[in-house]
Amino acid sequence: MKIETKQEILEVLRMPFEEYRHTVMAEAARIHREENGNILTATAMLGYDNICKNQCLYCGMRAGNSAVKRYRLDQEEVIRWIGVAQAKGFGRLFLVSGEDPKYGFDHLLAIVHAAKHAGMHVSLACGEFSLEQYRELKNAGADEYVMKFEMSDREDFDRLNPSTSFEKRIKNIGYIKQCGLKLASGNIVGYPGHNDSKAADDILLMKELEISWAPVIPYMPALNTPLAKEGGPGSIETNLKEISILRIMMHSLDITAQQPGRNLAQGLASTEGNLEALKAGANMLFADMLPDAMAKNFSVVDNRSGMGMAHLEEMAKLSGMELKLRAN
Ligand code: SF4
Repeated sequence: MKIETKQEILEVLRMPFEEYRHTVMAEAARIHREENGNILTATAMLGYDNICKNQCLYCGMRAGNSAVKRYRLDQEEVIRWIGVAQAKGFGRLFLVSGEDPKYGFDHLLAIVHAAKHAGMHVSLACGEFSLEQYRELKNAGADEYVMKFEMSDREDFDRLNPSTSFEKRIKNIGYIKQCGLKLASGNIVGYPGHNDSKAADDILLMKELEISWAPVIPYMPALNTPLAKEGGPGSIETNLKEISILRIMMHSLDITAQQPGRNLAQGLASTEGNLEALKAGANMLFADMLPDAMAKNFSVVDNRSGMGMAHLEEMAKLSGMELKLRAN
């Protein structure tokens, strides 16, 4: 099966769901099974700081949301949690934070250095930096940086991300690639104003950027956010179709399986949502290292709850995939 052009992507996005399930979804699962060893990649997640200066209109952690209980873990504490992840056998670490100007960059470098010293594959999502800073992160041992473009439509981006601009975001993506870091990037599916044509453009941009990981997610209206008043949620079906299209277009790509199901009250830890995403060709799940009470406050979406190893093991069992904790 070949999916390359915008027209071919649109055909899948507009296909009846049952037809998609029996054709495109099955093909994506086959590719992952036969070419990637049917591995479910487990990554330790450390949301070490939920303070953010930005005002993205869709995000529960935006600066304007006073309902969020904020926290910032210091360097020593983060390194201690990295030790916990290592002791549990994880070889992959995802360090994620809001865009917090008060988090000392030297501290972040020391954290990355410690994680690399512990032999981990290190991915980060800590916001926009300068070219020089990305270079320093790479030199400290970072492997991959997550810089989502969120929406390839320039006007939509500038409206929904008032603290930055589409131009600046694409420039940052260029910096990340220039430094030799792997680039993780993706979109939000079905935000108010999104449509199939824009989704197809998003997918083509991911391909063009030669991403290593697609952290895609359907739009989920978050409490106390301006965009929640405009509609949503995004379609779970379109999100699943996008996952399968990405697997078929980029066979060895990492794709987030931490997806909501039809009951949004279960947040991203939905057994149904995660399992469907794995069947659609996704391969990556996260285990929260922080205590549940803290993980809940890393609230880019509502109903966030800490996902532990038991959930990942259950997902591996239900999907028939092999759970892998080591990086290679
Ligand atoms: S999406 Fe990221 S940068 Fe935007 S408000 Fe949320 S945490 Fe901050």
